[in-house]
Amino acid sequence: MPPEIQHHCGLFGIYGDPDAVEKTYYALYAQQHRGQESAGICSSDGQEIDRYVGMGLVTEVFDRQRLELVRNPIAIGHVRYSTTGSSAHVNIQPLLVTYSRGQMAIAHNGNLINAKLLRDSYEDAGAIFQTTSDTEVIVHLMAKPDHIKHHDTLAHVLRHLQGAFSLLFLFPDRVVAARDPYGVRPLSLGMTAQGAPVVASETCAFDIIDAQYVRDVQPGEIVTLDRKGISSHYFVEPSECRPGHCIFEHVYFADPASSIFSENVHIVRSAMGRQLAREAPTDADVVIPVPNCARCASMGYAKQSTVPPGRGFTTSHYAGRSFIMPSQGQRDLAVKMKLNVIKEAVRGKRLVVIEDSVVRGTTTRGKMGALRAAGAKEIHLRVASPPIRHPCFYGIDFPDPNELVANQCGSVEAIREYLEVDSLHYLSLEGMLSCVRFAPDHYCTACFSGHYPISVDEPVTKFALERHQLRMFE
Ligand code: SF4
Repeated sequence: MPPEIQHHCGLFGIYGDPDAVEKTYYALYAQQHRGQESAGICSSDGQEIDRYVGMGLVTEVFDRQRLELVRNPIAIGHVRYSTTGSSAHVNIQPLLVTYSRGQMAIAHNGNLINAKLLRDSYEDAGAIFQTTSDTEVIVHLMAKPDHIKHHDTLAHVLRHLQGAFSLLFLFPDRVVAARDPYGVRPLSLGMTAQGAPVVASETCAFDIIDAQYVRDVQPGEIVTLDRKGISSHYFVEPSECRPGHCIFEHVYFADPASSIFSENVHIVRSAMGRQLAREAPTDADVVIPVPNCARCASMGYAKQSTVPPGRGFTTSHYAGRSFIMPSQGQRDLAVKMKLNVIKEAVRGKRLVVIEDSVVRGTTTRGKMGALRAAGAKEIHLRVASPPIRHPCFYGIDFPDPNELVANQCGSVEAIREYLEVDSLHYLSLEGMLSCVRFAPDHYCTACFSGHYPISVDEPVTKFALERHQLRMFE
């Protein structure tokens, strides 16, 4: 995983299973790639909600023996990488609050682009916020007396939100899932072998607990899991929903075993590799992926071309988390700890190297340099997505646009020179979109194309709410 862009968050919820908490633990473990800063589980016995959270990986946060003692049959869980608000204990999710209607826990994947506006209005009215996360504004919206008066408070509240949100709520007697009208982030429904309904960001969470995928939560839909089973309604008219699924989930973020946006990630990535081979055929000795994300695209490329697949790198599973390294030097070292070149496999060879994406370029440059130092004769870099030039406001933490290599260098030829490779080709935007199931206008491609499906009046930065708070205390 490149340390330059970070995953966001992963969600899981389950209703009516005696092992709900244990299953939530495993489901979060399966989605660890979506967030490694913190993890949390809230569970209910039907009357009262317990919260168990901490900083770190799922295996670090939870004591298995302690978890096994919690027999609550209803639970939601969250793994977090912060895209709004810093990596701090107060921001760990699920958030748990008590308001006039009782207890409520909430877990969020995505970014609210109007969070600052909403927060400003609540603070102007005297509200006190406990966190610097955008998610907390939803709590205040839910607790507002004017909103509670509405027959369907949640639907009314969700209509106030702008941006990307896949949400799970835990009330003492039920789990509620909701997805923004664009369906930017994935959210799927499933069923355990024992008949308990489950909901997760990715279907790899279902596999680990032997649950079956049922269907996606639809854009604009609210799904309730309670003693009556699964019920559904929409908070906006289905005709008002305009899908804008994050194409980067398919390119890079999601697990290849998962199905998101109604299709399997591995199959989509393989198709992108095949399309890349059609767009940029190469006379070479071997096709190698930059592990781990480019493996599927690399297989597709090799299948489509006459160049045999191979391996050029080994990966260490024990190298730790490079994303927490604050400096580029430390991140470079972390990449070296994770990746090692198999010299005998690349020496004297003409390589086609497949990358899923190139962000700052520094990491890719280091990997290409390592291949060259190991004796590679030629390096032809093929990238299974277009150049990244624009920021994401919907829940992915990219570097500042000025730090993106595509903006720094401008042309593909200038990027090639910077990366010190013999040739360089990116998958075209049209080629990428030809590999997914739905029509191009069903996807968000903003970080590549600059076309934002949800208009953003004021760019949202990760620490917008922190700065706001600092000003308050000045
Ligand atoms: S801007 Fe890029 S990363 Fe963000 S939602 Fe759109 S496609 Fe995904």
